[in-house]
Amino acid sequence: MSNLYLIRYGEIALKGENRSMFEDILKSNIKKSIKNERGNITIYKTPGRIFLKTEVDQNIVINRLQKIPGLVSFSPVVEVPLDYDKIKKVVLKSAQKALEDSEYINFRITARRSNKDFKYDSMELQYNLGEYIIENIEENKREVDLHTPDLDINVEIRKNGAFIYSEVYKGIGGLPVGVTGNAGLMLSGGIDSPVAGYMGLKRGAKLLPVYFHSFPFTSDRTKEKVKELTQVLAKYQNNIDLHIVDFTNILTEMNEKCPNDLITIIMRRLMLKITEMIVEKKNGKAIITGESIGQVASQTLEALKVTNEVPQLPILRPLLGLNKVQIIDLAKQIGTYNISIQPYDDCCTVFVPDSPETRPTIEQVLKGEENLDINDIIEKAVENVEVIHIEGY
Ligand code: ATP
Ligand code: MG
Repeated sequence: MSNLYLIRYGEIALKGENRSMFEDILKSNIKKSIKNERGNITIYKTPGRIFLKTEVDQNIVINRLQKIPGLVSFSPVVEVPLDYDKIKKVVLKSAQKALEDSEYINFRITARRSNKDFKYDSMELQYNLGEYIIENIEENKREVDLHTPDLDINVEIRKNGAFIYSEVYKGIGGLPVGVTGNAGLMLSGGIDSPVAGYMGLKRGAKLLPVYFHSFPFTSDRTKEKVKELTQVLAKYQNNIDLHIVDFTNILTEMNEKCPNDLITIIMRRLMLKITEMIVEKKNGKAIITGESIGQVASQTLEALKVTNEVPQLPILRPLLGLNKVQIIDLAKQIGTYNISIQPYDDCCTVFVPDSPETRPTIEQVLKGEENLDINDIIEKAVENVEVIHIEGY
């Protein structure tokens, strides 16, 4: 049996000329999210709405739709021919179905009629359908409640049929992934960067995560963790190519050739440059990081200035305005928190300087880098990058 879903989207509607491109991308993202499941899928647009018709299990569909950026809300709906007798039976069925879960319903009917040829207007529909429920459900089991009903049965009379639904599921909103282009995500195993990635993809960016791995300074467990985090993010983006850079030799070389108090900042500069090279090959237009201001030594404004000047691409820091509690709440909500808090050795903590320079100047840093063959380091890192394709489902 196939089920029908009415899908509402918000911001897209504001985007003028790009609107139909945005709608097509959203449609395609919806389709991709269930394409590996058994059953037919049909998806089509009507003005301001998308309809999905599919045999895929309803629980799976609901779960997937709740993770698709750009989708504001959706409802499983029943489509009925424009025949009042058929409509009233489906409406009554919705009320009876609600009574399976509770002993009592307080309900209202909300009718909308965009098809003015239908014989009843919306007020008449509300009244008549309400009456029909009252006549057919015992008195002690139902009550009309126009203002705060637990059950709001919606009836939309359109050109091509009547659509009846009573459940509205919230989506995550934002813009569909892909509409704003590709963006690199510097992804560590920590709490912040996956959240930054989520914020980016909600603004329509397709993520290209880059992780710098430094075995044996950091265990391979950390790499697994980053894969798991990517897997969670892939549920919002359908699939993700995770890029892993072997950072071990670079760290060792830096440790030998750079002043200890500048190691963190030089490391960040190298990471940014390498990320930029990888991302630009994939037509990436920005780099997203989980940085904030003032959390750690590498995030003073002076340190940000010195790292910012490395790449040409803009660096986006979506967590800038959030405090740690807010970031943790979001991490829990998107499902990355429990993975991020597993014990974890960060390459930044292995070589952490005894007293890091918190107010570096560009002259100081350039001098600190002078013994490194930076071009060679970067070239090798980019050449040897490992790409792992991860499907959301
Ligand atoms: P996170 O929780 O995201 O690790 P953090 O608060 O620990 O952030 P830092 O360790 O200073 O902060 O890292 C700041 C940002 O630099 C991270 O959010 C991430 O974007 C990037 N980053 C740090 N380490 C790595 C790494 N090994 N690979 C890729 N990106 C990294
Ligand atoms: Mg970290």
